[in-house]
Amino acid sequence: MDDIVALCKRRGFIFQSSEIYGGHNGFWDYGPLGTELKRNVRNAWYHDMVTSHDELQAPSGAPRPFQMVGIETALIMHPQVWRASGHYDLFADMMQTCRVCKKLFRADHVAGMLRESDWVASLREALGAGDGAVAFGHDSLRQWATHKKRGMKLAPGLALVREPDRTLEATADGLEMPFAELLRRAAATGGVAQDACPACGGDLTEPRQFNLMFETYTGAIQTDENRAFLRPETAQGMFVNFKNVVDSSRVKVPFGIAQIGKSFRNEITPRNFTFRSREFEQMEMEFFCHPDESRQWYAYWRDRRFRWYRDLGITGDNLILRDHDADELSHYSVGTADVEYAFPFLDPGEFGELEGVAHRGDFDLRSHMEGKLVKDDQGQLVVELDAAGNPRHKGSGKNLVYFDDETREKYLPHVIEPAAGADRATLAFLCEAYYVDEQPDDSGELQARTVLRLHPRLAPYKAAVFPLIKKEGMPEKAGEIYRQLKRAGIQAFYDQQGAIGRRYRRQDEIGTPWCITVDGDTASDGTVTLRDRDSLEQVRIPADEVAGEIARRLAGG
Ligand code: ATP
Repeated sequence: MDDIVALCKRRGFIFQSSEIYGGHNGFWDYGPLGTELKRNVRNAWYHDMVTSHDELQAPSGAPRPFQMVGIETALIMHPQVWRASGHYDLFADMMQTCRVCKKLFRADHVAGMLRESDWVASLREALGAGDGAVAFGHDSLRQWATHKKRGMKLAPGLALVREPDRTLEATADGLEMPFAELLRRAAATGGVAQDACPACGGDLTEPRQFNLMFETYTGAIQTDENRAFLRPETAQGMFVNFKNVVDSSRVKVPFGIAQIGKSFRNEITPRNFTFRSREFEQMEMEFFCHPDESRQWYAYWRDRRFRWYRDLGITGDNLILRDHDADELSHYSVGTADVEYAFPFLDPGEFGELEGVAHRGDFDLRSHMEGKLVKDDQGQLVVELDAAGNPRHKGSGKNLVYFDDETREKYLPHVIEPAAGADRATLAFLCEAYYVDEQPDDSGELQARTVLRLHPRLAPYKAAVFPLIKKEGMPEKAGEIYRQLKRAGIQAFYDQQGAIGRRYRRQDEIGTPWCITVDGDTASDGTVTLRDRDSLEQVRIPADEVAGEIARRLAGG
């Protein structure tokens, strides 16, 4: 991983944000090459999801044809959006502060440092239970420990919720309590909170809830009424515009609304390069379908989204599709699956989430109609009420029910949500592409060659054009070819500095799939050398066919 991070800085893919001021934790800047790479990732996603989508025929595996549209919504939405959606109350992690060095830690990360047996023992002690008096549901604890290790949230069925109130089935004799309460009790008796600070060994405070949404104020006066939030996900933009899109674009269920955009989460422990940042970009799609067909659509999107990463070059065992266990799901959800990648900063056998594909039922549309929903005693979703019997967080009150004018049916569509991160995808493509082999240099001696074997669709430059030497009309001819590529809309690079072998290696290191060299024969026979980054094969082609040949290869020909 260190080598990849070093390459990113050296070649201008990714820089620490505000680096000259010592950096700003959790924020990253993309340099010239990183900007092209990430733009290509975003474009590939949007192209494959929206631009190239054929709404007249069902793609392979899809139950029927469907429509896809894009949307771009505000980063700061009405504060009520986040109250109704549940983010305001629940988008929180439990955190602890070190009393000595003042650093913040996610309680589950710190607790995760305990061995599982210690964890169970400390809970047992915290609950004042003698041996055998409390039977911990060992399996659910183990499952929870696995979640922690994977850095996952506790309520995977609800992508939006980090749910400290999820009840761990901790006992067999009716002693059930929310996880947050369990932590608090453990802390009070010196159980979990006795964990030392991982940074300095100091004492930690009790776990406290910490909302991950960045707050700001709209308008001049900083009152509670003017308090607003930077969006922690793009998805709510699609839900609150569901009716607008239906009414304005004549889409019919089933259809999807796709959006790419920045999201912000005040992550307590940003880490692992760009993997967990405080500002990041999401590529999310909300697919609205008939409740009776939602299982089929879920299966379709789950498989299709996994294939997307494979098609773009992550072909081996580093990529997995992990279905959530039934007990990890919200009760209204028939499934959630994560596309995960074995990032090099993780322990062997561990995977980090690239994308979650969730069946969300009608949870989101209903919340924005009726108000914030919670589960009742029977596990049914009901509007949460305050002491006076009014909705605790009101919805919009608007009718978001869909009317199918062919079947004359009225219903609230179910939603399938494939939610991907552009930065995590970019990082995974970079990690997968990074490769070092040995190749002879100009003098024939074997040298380590660093290659980014990026899929051509993702490579920052598709082609680099070189004159072999800086005379005999070669730079002029190479310049012509370079412009030919640019006119065809192909990302190209021109380089006439240094030995040819060094120029090839510079392009290999940034993932350029093809290099074109103008040499002594070009003037006489009109051909140039086309070199392939991965096979190292060199062929001669007519100079005036370069743009056509690169376009053909890009199209997979
Ligand atoms: P995690 O459990 O890793 O915090 P999440 O399950 O909360 O992620 P979602 O709310 O499902 O994430 O967001 C969808 C996608 O957005 C994730 O799969 C990931 O690619 C991206 N994402 C979420 N949080 C971050 C972050 N802090 N930095 C970079 N990308 C992120």
